[in-house]
Amino acid sequence: MRILVVEDEKKIAGFIKRGLKEEGYAVDVAADGGEGYELASVNDYDLIILDIMLPKCDGVTVCKKLRAEKLETPIIMLTAKTSVQDKVTGLDAGANDYLTKPFAFEELLARMRVLLRRAVQPATRLQVADLALDLLSHKVSRADRDIILSSREFALLEYLMRNTGTVVTRTMISEHVWDIDFDTSTNVIDVYINYLRNKIDADFDQKLIQTIRGRGYMLKE
Ligand code: CA
Repeated sequence: MRILVVEDEKKIAGFIKRGLKEEGYAVDVAADGGEGYELASVNDYDLIILDIMLPKCDGVTVCKKLRAEKLETPIIMLTAKTSVQDKVTGLDAGANDYLTKPFAFEELLARMRVLLRRAVQPATRLQVADLALDLLSHKVSRADRDIILSSREFALLEYLMRNTGTVVTRTMISEHVWDIDFDTSTNVIDVYINYLRNKIDADFDQKLIQTIRGRGYMLKE
């Protein structure tokens, strides 16, 4: 899951980014409305956290522009104001939810889970052959044997499973599973693919993760 945080207050942006990374999300931060709009237009995010008071272009305008372009990504607005009118304005602009600053990080996570759950329905469970991944409980199993994955391995496997039967390049993987600061010159992706292979394929005759020479990887029955 890749999240965009549009927030000009460095302290708050840093706090959200650190917290979400610890939860296994890939996080990009934009420091003004213009940059936020650019990133949201170019990249494929699972959720956007959007402050209202921003330099260059305020959050309500950014939200309206994105919705006008048919972007359906869930958006949580952050507001320092508590007036009902601001909340109504944000929701009217197409935001799915809002949080008033200061907020507890746990509350942000809870609201994100609600929106992400809604966005992934009805597929809350992915299955390829005897490999199953539950998006809500984050449980993975193969042939009814539980498999423990790190949050990054889980994100990588989820991405491969969502694209079953399709070749995914290292660039596609880096864009969906890692954040914008990911150094594409490293072999980190191959290393993680190997971690996954050891956990989901090594003990089984049928290998699900295929290497497509010169192109990337594919999960296939
Ligand atoms: Ca602000």
